[in-house]
Amino acid sequence: MNCEIISVGTELLLGDIIDTNAYNISRRLKTLGINVFYRTTVGDNDKRLFDVFDNAFKRSDMVITTGGLGATTDDITKDIAAKFFNKKILLDEPSLEIIKDFFNKKNISMSKINERQAYTIQDAFILKNDVGLAIGNILEENGKILIILPGPPNECLTMFDNYVIPYLTKFSKKTMISKFMHFSDIGESELGEIVSDLTQNLENPTVAPYAKDTECILRITAKADNEEDANKMINPVMEEIKKRLGTKFYGEGEKTSLAFVFSKMLIQKNLKISVSESCTGGLLSSAFVDYPGISEVFIDGNVTYSCFAKKKYLGVKEETLNLYGAVSKETAEEMAIGTALSNGTDIAISTTGVAGPSGGTKEK
Ligand code: AMP
Ligand code: MG
Repeated sequence: MNCEIISVGTELLLGDIIDTNAYNISRRLKTLGINVFYRTTVGDNDKRLFDVFDNAFKRSDMVITTGGLGATTDDITKDIAAKFFNKKILLDEPSLEIIKDFFNKKNISMSKINERQAYTIQDAFILKNDVGLAIGNILEENGKILIILPGPPNECLTMFDNYVIPYLTKFSKKTMISKFMHFSDIGESELGEIVSDLTQNLENPTVAPYAKDTECILRITAKADNEEDANKMINPVMEEIKKRLGTKFYGEGEKTSLAFVFSKMLIQKNLKISVSESCTGGLLSSAFVDYPGISEVFIDGNVTYSCFAKKKYLGVKEETLNLYGAVSKETAEEMAIGTALSNGTDIAISTTGVAGPSGGTKEK
């Protein structure tokens, strides 16, 4: 399997920006054992990009492009690739919904032109963009493979790490093993700084942030002849990360979550728990009850949304609510104590806060 990387963008030819994507993709392909025989840079020009595809597919099994997926009409990579393979350009509705949602949340009206970022080439797989809007594509056609990635480096490499590497492992004779480390009580950028030397310098295993809405995850991936060897390479890196992050590290595994790890501990230690929720409206209880066997320790979960309910069911004092308000540490404390006492549990958790769709609604 030999590969060619095409970097698309006039700004690259003008020397306005450095082509870091091609460099980083090359490094990753080397680790996968995939040869890169050519790297080409081309401007945002229909004919020249078409010619570059023509040359590339004559001499390479796989072509990876970066750039030219933005919303503006000078971003033409998908259009020209579709033309080259005689395919249609389609609008991917689920991706369009994600883009619409992004603009809605920011309260910005979405221009029609942003629909372009949800364009997909007919018959191609879609590569999700976990950190941006424009989706990528993988097209397998006539024994050739075309992989289309966005230009912004963070989007390009996140897409590569999250979706292209798992796809490419089928062409690699080596075994790829990934381990996932989960962290709580730390933001993505702080975590990124603490492990920046590992994410930037390590080649095998690699350490990469794994984007998720709700928490920070690092993925450590090693390539080796077999699983045992891969694990031997991964384990010291995980130990080093644990040492650096201390109690912020809470669990391993692709599917785990803070609620799962916590539920497991409760069952092991036979600690009974109850929950009263305000702003989370039952989400916390729902996270607990997803865990098999939790009924042994999860006694009660209730939504005391109004001040009325907080007083009636949890014994929160009128003075506390008047003095500090429903969204306060003091109210949360009285809610938790009331919950623990009425249920006779070892632990109680309460939530109160402002989380309504309009952001600032005061609880009644
Ligand atoms: P595009 O997908 O063409 O809209 O790319 C958007 C932005 O990504 C450009 O303005 C550049 O700042 C950046 N970019 C594009 N290609 C590359 C590249 N090969 N290396 C680094 N940055 C890039
Ligand atoms: Mg561009």
